[in-house]
Order: sequence, then structure tokens, then C-alpha cells
Amino acid sequence: MEFSELKKIDKQYIANTYNRFETDIVYGEGATLFSQDGKKYVDFGSGIAVNIFGVNDREWKEAVISQLEKVQHASNLYYTQPQSALAELLCKKTGAKKVFFSNSGAEANECAIKAARKYSFCKYGENRYEIITLKNSFHGRTLATLSATGQDSMHQYFMPFLEGFRYADPNYAGVKKLISDKTCAVFLELVQGEGGVRPLDTEEVKQIERLCKKQDILLMIDEVQTGNGRTGTLYAYEQYGIQPDIVTTAKGLAGGLPLGATMFFDKCETVFGAGDHGSTFGGNPVACAGALSILKRLDKQLFLEVQGKSVYLFTHLGRIKNVLNVSGLGLMIGLETTKPSREVAEACLARGLIVLTAKNKVRLLPPLNIKKDEMDFAIKILNEVLSE
Ligand SMILES: *Cc1c(COP(=O)(O)O)cnc(C)c1O
Repeated sequence: MEFSELKKIDKQYIANTYNRFETDIVYGEGATLFSQDGKKYVDFGSGIAVNIFGVNDREWKEAVISQLEKVQHASNLYYTQPQSALAELLCKKTGAKKVFFSNSGAEANECAIKAARKYSFCKYGENRYEIITLKNSFHGRTLATLSATGQDSMHQYFMPFLEGFRYADPNYAGVKKLISDKTCAVFLELVQGEGGVRPLDTEEVKQIERLCKKQDILLMIDEVQTGNGRTGTLYAYEQYGIQPDIVTTAKGLAGGLPLGATMFFDKCETVFGAGDHGSTFGGNPVACAGALSILKRLDKQLFLEVQGKSVYLFTHLGRIKNVLNVSGLGLMIGLETTKPSREVAEACLARGLIVLTAKNKVRLLPPLNIKKDEMDFAIKILNEVLSE
């Protein structure tokens, strides 16, 4: 089907929620993608931080296909090997005690919100339910996670939103100001992704942790985007030197299949009982088999490579004329440029480079196995586009 025809059908039948870029994607290998009309792209988006090892990765594909040939779905009424094995490996690698699997970032966060409320309800009674999130944060599109999202622009049309969220300035003083005897949790992205690739300050996060620990307020970290090797460690919280009580993740977890995880550390190990939460699809064996094959490869050696690539990109991108600022962590990089970010992304696409945007930033989220010549291509194209 011609692209123009595809576009026409899409516009006619798909709900109008996406502002798509002007290409389809039909095939690829690693960080190289092709459209129907044979145009080649270098991918610095990974399907929004999802395709950790790019597309058509052999090991991942084998794991997925091998599970597909056994059983594609069993429901959570029964035991399945990929799900238990993945939970075990996640816990062994992070020190988490229990995992709940869902299908997306928003669902992983919903689960964390429910867990925080129950933890506090059982220990302190009814009125300690407030969750402090940060201004400019992003936690998802369901009503609860939209309510948790600290952006006024997201709090339109869908009233009433869920009560019990308070939005702090993204620093220690901001969080401290909102903590009260009603607070049950503080919920943070360590690098605000959709909000413009903005890392929080390490010392301030440590101070927030101390404050939470003192008052038995749960520290919950949204690693939906920062997780699974993206920032140069398995999870970004490791680099902040903190020990969260709950960590959520999704995007890259299963390397391209829908999977969310909510990880419970010591304090919250027993917060849920049978019937408190559930999901029909969550922890699907095919998604879990894919995730297991990815997680096994997320080791020290890979993190060193990610860190090296990060330094390389930060250095070279920082030298580009009209790049005002480079922010981020690992292979999650934001560029503040003199041109509007959407314009930059469209111009890059026309030249064969896929990049994303986040607010006023150009956002780069390449696969973790991105190669040197692909990084050089991205630097070259961004340089061209920004010097026009
Ligand atoms: C993408 C994202 C979400 C939402 O994930 P979905 O899978 O789209 O529901 C939540 N939190 C953060 C930090 C994200 O980047």
C-alpha cells in the first residue's frame, strides 16, 4: 500500500489523538529502519525508549518466538515459567522483594499508587493518602496517572480528576513544603522525560529520601522511561544513591512488547493480598520471555558501553552550533536548540534521522547497541539541520 493511501485510511479511522510524523515504518535491523517506499532512517527514538536493542534483534526474537510456539497466553489464574523467571531475575538484580506485572507504564504507576494508599491505610488509617509528585512530571494517561502528572495543561476536560495529589517544585524545598501528616508517598521521575529530559539534583533527591524515611513516607520512583539500562545503570536510582520503596518501569522492559512492572522493596513486600489488584494480560508469557532475554544482557559491560556512548554524544552534540544546552543521563539526552524542537525533528526525518521531542527539547533515545557510525551520522545531521 502506498504511503499516501495508508495515511488516508489512518486519518479516516484512527482516533485523532496522535500528531504523527510523515513516514511509516515497515522493517528494520538494529537502529536502521525502512519505510514502505524504501527510505532509510537511523533511529534515535527506539519507539520512545522501547526497542532497547533496536529491531529484529536475533536473541530477543528467538526468545519471543520460542515462547510463542509454546503458549501465547495463560492468564494469571495459572503459573507460567517466563513470568516467575523474570520476577526472580528482576528481584535478584535490584534487591526488590516482589513484582507485579502489567502492560504499560501507566498501569505500573496505577499499581504503585494503589499500593501506597493501602500501605498507609493499613498502618495509619483513613486520612493519610496524599501523594506528592513534581511539577512538570509525566506519569501516564489514565485518570489516576494523569492526576499524578504535575502539568496544568494535562488537567483539562476530563474532570473530575482523582484527588490526593499535590505538585511540588522539582527540588527538596518544594517537596518538604508539601509534606504533611496526610502524605503517604513521594513519587518522582529522576530524569523528567516527557517534561524535557531534566535530571533532578542528586543531593536534593538524597535529602528527599531522608525526609521520607524519617516519616515512613514511601519513596516511589517512576522509571518507566529511565529504566532498563537507558541511563547507564539498570535503574537510574542506583546512580542517585537512594533506596526507593517502590520502583515502576515499562517502556524498554520487554524490548518492544507491552509489559509494565511495579517492584516492591522491603517495606512494601506484603502490601497486596489476593484480590487487591490484578490484570488479564499483565505478565503475558511472550512479553516476559522477551523481557527475560533482554534483562540477562543488561550487565556491567553493557552499562560501561552505554556510559561511553553517552559521553561521546554529550561531547559532540554540545559542540554543535545552535545547541544551547545538552541535558539528560546515559542514552536519554535532551537538546535545547535555537529552533523549535518539532521543526528540528521534522528536518532530521527528511534527512534520514529519527529523533523525538520533549517540550522545547529535541530528545534522543537511541537503542543501547547504537553503533559509532550511527552516532556520527546523527551528529552530522543535527549539525546540518541546526546550521541551516
Ligand atoms: C511513557 C511514560 C509513562 C506512561 O507509560 P505508558 O506505557 O505510555 O502508559 C509513565 N511515566 C513515564 C516517566 C513515562 O516516560
